[in-house]
Amino acid sequence: MSGETKFSVLVSLFNWMQKSKSSAVKRSKFRKFLDTFCRPREYFSAIRLILPTLDRERGTYGLKESVLAACLVDALGMSRDSEDAQRLFNWRRGGPKSGANAGNFAMVANEVLQRRQGMTSGGLTINELNDLLDRLASSENRSEKASVLSTLIKNTNAQEMKWIVMIILKDLKLGISEKSIFHEFHPDAEDLFNVTCDLKLVCEKLRDRSQRHKRQDIEVGKPVRPQLAMRVNNAATAWKKFHGKEVVAECKFDGDRIQIHKNGTDAHFFSRNFLDHSEYEHGMLDIIIQNILVDRCILDGEMLVWDKSLNRFAEFGSNQEIAKSAREGLASDRELCYVAFDILYYGDTSVIHQSLKERHELLRKVVKPIKGRLELLVPDGSLNNLRHPGEPCWSISVHGLEDVERFFKETIENRDEGIVLKDLSSKWEPSDRSGKWLKLKPDYVRASSDLDVLIIGGYYGSGRRGGGVAQFLVGLAECPAPNTYPRRFISFCRVGTGLSEDELDAVITKLKPYLRKYEYPRKGTPSFYQVTDHVRERPDVWVESPEKSIILAITSDIRTISSEVFAAPYSIRFPRIDRVKWDKPWHECLDVQSFMDLVQSSNGT
Ligand code: ATP
Repeated sequence: MSGETKFSVLVSLFNWMQKSKSSAVKRSKFRKFLDTFCRPREYFSAIRLILPTLDRERGTYGLKESVLAACLVDALGMSRDSEDAQRLFNWRRGGPKSGANAGNFAMVANEVLQRRQGMTSGGLTINELNDLLDRLASSENRSEKASVLSTLIKNTNAQEMKWIVMIILKDLKLGISEKSIFHEFHPDAEDLFNVTCDLKLVCEKLRDRSQRHKRQDIEVGKPVRPQLAMRVNNAATAWKKFHGKEVVAECKFDGDRIQIHKNGTDAHFFSRNFLDHSEYEHGMLDIIIQNILVDRCILDGEMLVWDKSLNRFAEFGSNQEIAKSAREGLASDRELCYVAFDILYYGDTSVIHQSLKERHELLRKVVKPIKGRLELLVPDGSLNNLRHPGEPCWSISVHGLEDVERFFKETIENRDEGIVLKDLSSKWEPSDRSGKWLKLKPDYVRASSDLDVLIIGGYYGSGRRGGGVAQFLVGLAECPAPNTYPRRFISFCRVGTGLSEDELDAVITKLKPYLRKYEYPRKGTPSFYQVTDHVRERPDVWVESPEKSIILAITSDIRTISSEVFAAPYSIRFPRIDRVKWDKPWHECLDVQSFMDLVQSSNGT
């Protein structure tokens, strides 16, 4: 083989993989590519393009479909009003001719590019492509990004550019798992990746498939893929699985899973997908240095926000905002709180091979808790002291099925997400979901009465539902004056799941004559809808008048979240359509005040 590997060769591999149904064929094509077409020193260059989600050498592109569409339109020098530009902006909907591709951004882009690019390969090498992708990730504004895309377009054909778009969106739809790619590359690749999260190192160290690699342990400073929990449906199944074992039950917190790697006066905060969250350093670094009583260690746990005035953990989603206030030195009743539930490295050795019971002992020794900032989640740990009298603990030793059932019930009543049961004799294993930890979550908890909401808009789907409405924007009624019908509806949440395909089709067929396209910026939004300007709310279509619409009964996780995206003061989490209320007239939609009453009664306030 001479010269550097061309991207067109990788594109042929992608096309082959996508076409073949069998996993063995996909794997053998990949093997052939490595052996015949790719030089060992280019393995990383190629594999980072095949597994873009695992590549941490390059920053993020900041390009979701909508921004990518805008950049491509600029790169191609198209007018924003042109038919093709609109096709890209409305990729979910699909234009008159692109029906088949609606919902697949790369295919819609391919359609547009085919009219502008030739068939001949641009001759780009994989190394050149990686250099350009580096530039794309590091460019700061849209016009710089458009200029890199324009260079890419000049040096590729439409087919190659389609794959580049998929690489940028980090979704290649090759139908082959990351596990298979790793196994075909080298028998030790997955293991090494799990303990280093470093794709470059894996590709460089394991170039020779016939040379086995000594199993590597975890290291301070290198994120490790987390131990995961297996889902079980009920307490009895969980208890049976752990028959005869010593078990702890812990609350399943709803924050960010974070590994803290402490090394002297330095600490890194790695998330589940191995990103280094340096924003947590503000306000947390000093605590880690002073209150973790060992120089080098790795802790596993959850980053949450503790609200001092309310004496409880804040709702999910406030971590970033609180980290930002900490950085700006703003005083607040809410502060970041790290809940440590495991230790993976202590002093100069990994301790993942020790039992959880032994690791809990070490944790107790190492963590000096600070109320509401650094807490210990072990059966007799500090966190339990944060509870109000009479409230359930956050971590207990369980001795029988009744203990598990009681703990689960209490946890759910306290509106926490669920519980995690852990075998105290188990090791901590990277990326393992074999049942050392079991998670038990409630099915959707129904609010004390149905939430009957009105459909006010629709969102187009992707994939199979591309080009048609797949989700709804639903609203609550503004409180009507006595004996009158509501005059306005306030956007409340977005909901898609719960109905069968047939039911969904029936609703859409009934609404279809009344659906009107949304036009930015809110031109023609019916005046009887109160909405926000948030992009995540913006529907693709409106129902032209409430009288024509349909009521849906939705259920949800009973916890509500304050809403910035929707106009109503609260929204709910994980909404699901329970059923279509065909007989209920539009004006019997739940009103905002009744909803607030429901929230308050379910919060017990
Ligand atoms: P889910 O969507 O149910 O959180 P998941 O796939 O993200 O599932 P799992 O491995 O199934 O993750 O569940 C473990 C996750 O639960 C952890 O990644 C962590 O973020 C979270 N968690 C919260 N509290 C605990 C706890 N006490 N012990 C372990 N994990 C916990």
